[in-house]
Amino acid sequence: MVVTDRYDVVVIGAGIVGLATARAVAERLPDADLAVIDKEPAVATHQTGHNSGVLHTGIYYTPGSLRAKLCVQGHRAMAEFCGEAGLPFRGGGKVVVATGEAQIPRLDELQRRGTLNGVQGLRRLGPGELRELEPHANGVAALAVPEAASVDFAAVARHIAAELPGDLRIGAPLEAAELGEHVRLHAGGTACEARLVINCAGLHCDRVARLAGVTPDVRIIPFRGEYYRLRDEAASLVRSLIYPVPDPTFPFLGVHFTRRVDGTVEVGPNAVLALGREHYRDGRPNLADIAEMLRFGGFWRLVGRHWRAGSAELWRSRIRRAYARSARALVPEVTGADLLPGGAGVRAQAVGADGRLLDDFCLQESPGFVHVLNAPSPAATASLAVGEHIADLVVRRLDS
Ligand SMILES: Cc1cc2nc3c(=O)[nH]c(=O)nc-3n(C[C@H](O)[C@H](O)[C@H](O)COP(=O)(O)OP(=O)(O)OC[C@H]3O[C@@H](n4cnc5c(N)ncnc54)[C@H](O)[C@@H]3O)c2cc1C
Repeated sequence: MVVTDRYDVVVIGAGIVGLATARAVAERLPDADLAVIDKEPAVATHQTGHNSGVLHTGIYYTPGSLRAKLCVQGHRAMAEFCGEAGLPFRGGGKVVVATGEAQIPRLDELQRRGTLNGVQGLRRLGPGELRELEPHANGVAALAVPEAASVDFAAVARHIAAELPGDLRIGAPLEAAELGEHVRLHAGGTACEARLVINCAGLHCDRVARLAGVTPDVRIIPFRGEYYRLRDEAASLVRSLIYPVPDPTFPFLGVHFTRRVDGTVEVGPNAVLALGREHYRDGRPNLADIAEMLRFGGFWRLVGRHWRAGSAELWRSRIRRAYARSARALVPEVTGADLLPGGAGVRAQAVGADGRLLDDFCLQESPGFVHVLNAPSPAATASLAVGEHIADLVVRRLDS
């Protein structure tokens, strides 16, 4: 195939992480030739366009981890970016609600982590103070997180793409990569070359790594998050964001209430094993994806560790009453009839061969490539800081 274009840097994936990375590289290396390639006909088609839209603050993540550092930096950068670009932003903060005394030590731990991570304005609330902020929430104690907000990450991604000083090659799935002095990429029936390729392929990042000749230690296991929407008559039960105290053995935050930038209130997401990497609510199971998952030893170890929680999630996914029960633990006035079906997103969760769900963001370098192998929540919040972090690697690699 004839190579028509040569670039300094090519990013695979026009989600928010890939686009933020391309933006940061363009700022650091204004003379570099740059392209972003995506298999879909539009940007932000997968995780970036199917999430809760919450600008996280950094209370959940292990102090000193990349996730904690880049979340805190990225939160501030994203709030500023939305302000300057005139993109939707809804402040109002959130409350993390302990519904029983047994959860209080975990609430203490969130406050400790948040403080160490540099999150501003954290405040402990008793039941009365909780009701002043969220009159319909029920809890024995809560943590107020005033910096949490709602944004529209897909709008952010589209804005970055529109301003990107480089080529956006959409509708072009990467099919092959040949390593040489430069990397030759075959995507969507065309070929181009790059000095360095950044793999930000989200749900397919481990597959793109394999195209680059790398056998990653981790595999992507897809977890679907399903949402309901509160019907308009019930939306006033929630002012801003109401979260449960998360289960520390799971990297997901638990079913919560989110007032989105458009004013609607979403309930969710849960976390069920998806029958395919792009198996959205009504999608057909992808047999090839399922077969690949079943061949991975880490999958069986994951099932061994979490089958009980996994079964409960499946039950909650199938039975609306069970979903409503989780919601009612936080806001008792919510009924099953208040929950209208909503959308769904699929999380790209990296799992190790030992069956552990990777907690931190994970980057790996290989000849001609930098791979982003785990960028789960809060990677959308952190994306501008993740982009800066990767741009540092790019500058070093291109200089060496
Ligand atoms: C249900 C849910 C709720 C979430 N809630 C939040 C939240 O409230 N706050 C937050 O900060 N984060 C949240 N997240 C996480 C956040 O959405 C992701 O961390 C973030 O969007 C990851 O961005 P990405 O660019 O890495 O991936 P993606 O947006 O998935 O982008 C990857 C891109 O790569 C492309 N691609 C894949 N394979 C190829 C190939 N072979 N060739 C070319 N292109 C390819 C895809 O088409 C896709 O566009 C949530 C995620 C989910 C699923």
